[in-house]
Amino acid sequence: MSSTNSKSLKELKDNLTYSRVNAWDPISVKENVTLEKYCAAYLQFLDAAKTEREAVDYIQNFIAPKGYSDLQTGKISEKYFFNHYGKSIALYRDGRNPVTDGLNIIVAHIDSPRLDLKQHPLYEDEEIVFLKTHYYGGVKKYQWLSRPLAIHGVISMKNGDNIHIKVGEDESDPIFTIADLLPHLAGKAQMQKKASEFIPGEKLNLIVGTKPFCSDKDQKDRFKLNILAMLHDQYGIKEDDFLSADIEIVPAGKARELGFDRSLIAGYGQDDRVCAYAALRAILDAADPKQASLVLLMDKEEIGSEGATGANTWFLEMVIGDVLSKMGHEEYRTLRHVLSSASCLSADVNGATHPDWAEVHDKMNAGYLNAGMVISKFTGIKGKSGSNEANAEFIARLRQLFEENDVVWHSAELGKVDEGGGGTIAKFMAYYGMNVIDAGVPVLDMHSPFEITSKADIWMMYKGFKAFLEN
Ligand code: MN
Ligand code: MN
Repeated sequence: MSSTNSKSLKELKDNLTYSRVNAWDPISVKENVTLEKYCAAYLQFLDAAKTEREAVDYIQNFIAPKGYSDLQTGKISEKYFFNHYGKSIALYRDGRNPVTDGLNIIVAHIDSPRLDLKQHPLYEDEEIVFLKTHYYGGVKKYQWLSRPLAIHGVISMKNGDNIHIKVGEDESDPIFTIADLLPHLAGKAQMQKKASEFIPGEKLNLIVGTKPFCSDKDQKDRFKLNILAMLHDQYGIKEDDFLSADIEIVPAGKARELGFDRSLIAGYGQDDRVCAYAALRAILDAADPKQASLVLLMDKEEIGSEGATGANTWFLEMVIGDVLSKMGHEEYRTLRHVLSSASCLSADVNGATHPDWAEVHDKMNAGYLNAGMVISKFTGIKGKSGSNEANAEFIARLRQLFEENDVVWHSAELGKVDEGGGGTIAKFMAYYGMNVIDAGVPVLDMHSPFEITSKADIWMMYKGFKAFLEN
């Protein structure tokens, strides 16, 4: 072959073929400074917001100086928030154009897989005091053993007071744990069983104490009573107050930078707080947005978005209905028009390819760490079942937008066609007839107590969200 031909072949390749970009490559030294600043702030958010309630509290504090008015009780404004039971929150911001001309929505979730306390949790067995748990969301149960755990949540008292509990995060706090079985005796009880069976849900019991209340050995429950007495001293609660509580067991400790090069972030609850934080920052930082913006940060995604504070509710209608009402639009058809013509990013994470488990991914259509923001045209299982699928025209618009704003991104399915699957909030937004697509970052070791993301991807997602809300 002649050299002219081989040159034109290279031109053909450069001009016509797709190749994945590493998100670090286009980042300048200057841009990297901003990226690191953003990621440091994100790490703080991860540590402060390990439950949906803590995320909403953090967001309320964060927006307090930014002029957001309470949509239910506040004055007429260009910016509103709607806090729903302290577990989900919406932020609305006017654009240059009226909201009836277009609305850009980013929806993410702020709940994460975890262990909840049961309603009757406290007992003693062999002079050890335990709390019984019931896991929430898709967890590999064995990942929750033999690690430091913290207790976060609220106990709601009959008089209406909420007692906040957070133990296991401060250096001076005790931690808690679920003890596994020693390998010497695990042969039959565990090792020959399927991984899904060797830790039954009923064995996910948290060790919370071993000291007796008194030395009178005839006293029944003297170990459990010691813990109850301590809880009563510290929080004023009795055993039956656990009946009205939202208490979550989460991994103790802070999120950390990972790797000699500190290019990754490892920590609990990044699905989906990594997207929630980017959405929050995007709506606050967006410069002079053309259209109205809405950020929805929802609870209950990990159990299917069912429940009063989840996305499979009237929440979106309530929020936009109230916004329109503040502007004097009371007609249902205006609400219907705004919702059906909105554009939405369903901001949620996707799985990153794990080189040791490459067999579950279609490598041409997989998510990769450091390949930038990840877009999924559809989710679901088997034949795209239970999924929203985005329109080609909407994706074309996003391609143009991301190109204009130097956002590195790639497209991914969760795994191979027959391998499994999952869903997100997208379908509940699509219900209204709006354009919606899944957008987020790839996560390695997703749904584990220690999820891994890339700083470059996080940065690209934030840039993408901000550009989406500005245009
Ligand atoms: Mn998620
Ligand atoms: Mn999830």
